[in-house]
Amino acid sequence: MRTTTARTFNAMEAPVRELASEARLNLRHLPDYMDSIADRLQSFEAETSTDGQRIDFRFTFGDASFDMERLVMRANATDRDGLARVKDLLATAVEVYAKAENPEIVWTGDLSGETSLAQFREMTVTEVRHLTPHMRRVRLAGANLHRFAKFGGMHIRMLFPTKHVPDPLWPVLGANGLPVWPADDRKPVARVYTIRALDVAKGIIDVDFLVHPGESVGAAWAMQAAPGMKIGIMGPVGRPVRQAEWYVMGADETGLPALARMLETLPAQTRGLAFVEIADQREKQQIDNATGIELHWLTRNGVPAGGDRLLAETVRSVTWPRGASTFGWFAAEAAAAKVVREHWRSTLGLGRDETLAAAYWRRGAAGLMAG
Ligand SMILES: Cc1cc2nc3c(=O)[nH]c(=O)nc-3n(C[C@H](O)[C@H](O)[C@H](O)COP(=O)(O)OP(=O)(O)OC[C@H]3O[C@@H](n4cnc5c(N)ncnc54)[C@H](O)[C@@H]3O)c2cc1C
Repeated sequence: MRTTTARTFNAMEAPVRELASEARLNLRHLPDYMDSIADRLQSFEAETSTDGQRIDFRFTFGDASFDMERLVMRANATDRDGLARVKDLLATAVEVYAKAENPEIVWTGDLSGETSLAQFREMTVTEVRHLTPHMRRVRLAGANLHRFAKFGGMHIRMLFPTKHVPDPLWPVLGANGLPVWPADDRKPVARVYTIRALDVAKGIIDVDFLVHPGESVGAAWAMQAAPGMKIGIMGPVGRPVRQAEWYVMGADETGLPALARMLETLPAQTRGLAFVEIADQREKQQIDNATGIELHWLTRNGVPAGGDRLLAETVRSVTWPRGASTFGWFAAEAAAAKVVREHWRSTLGLGRDETLAAAYWRRGAAGLMAG
């Protein structure tokens, strides 16, 4: 078990977590998966410690532990949202890394009979407008949106009706702590989008949709979205972006909503460089940049989206300062994200906790989901 990258904590400092749940893990090779499971959990800002055969993870919203002797995982939290979140993170990590053993997870303890999915909300469209010729802002209203401001994730999985499933059923919570989906003839189609703006008190979320060419679900829905229409959202999803004194950022139009939200919400003293690739000057948006990060717009000028190397090359050419705490953030087409990720991780030798270069879409592939 590797814990070198983990921050450790003192169990005496831990707050009392009243809600508790546990699940048995009938996995013969659990130790083989633990490094990957721990790595994934740590990327959600978990502090880690090991005590004999027990590995503990402490998140801001709850605690988790793996008892390697009894083959049991536990989740604790002070509230329902926190417990649901810890259970979801643990069950997802086990499902992903122990896939070969087809794990069967059944949680017992608090909220084990619960069937409503903590991360799901049905939302209603209240307003739609064009920000630029190809960017459409959709305002959604819904109840009890507090959790979308928690956990550090900026994104949501949006559940769309389609022409084949015009009236979808929404998912419910399974005994394993993960969503259970309806049969295919009632199943909505999911795509990932960013919460561009959130007003919990007013119960409002804004999502900016790029209207891109080709047969699509998300972009097609946004084009005909109108007040009164219903849509499902799940989240928040995504890892928190580490706080730093200096950032280098890069995004195409799909990463622009997240980049813009960061420029509007990071502390005023933050410094760095941000590059945004857009089709042409007409796609430039007004962003209320509250930071000292310099924003530069790069235009494709006729080159199709995903076919231009300028964004990746520009981000790659940036010299990182020494001394300051730094972070690299990049969100664009898969090939560009790969170029930047390889440069940051392999050439510059930067760690996973200092960089995030994500594929937000892939040329020619529908429905790419972030990990
Ligand atoms: C974490 C995350 C956050 C995201 N946030 C946003 C957001 O806030 N706003 C936003 O608009 N997108 C965002 N995206 C990107 C969005 O999820 C993808 O573009 C997705 O493919 C759109 O779904 P669709 O149904 O419109 O197209 P799909 O059905 O997935 O794809 C249909 C076709 O369109 C192509 N295509 C997809 N995206 C583009 C594009 N950008 N340009 C040209 N062709 C494209 C595909 O290659 C495919 O050939 C985000 C993605 C991730 C992973």
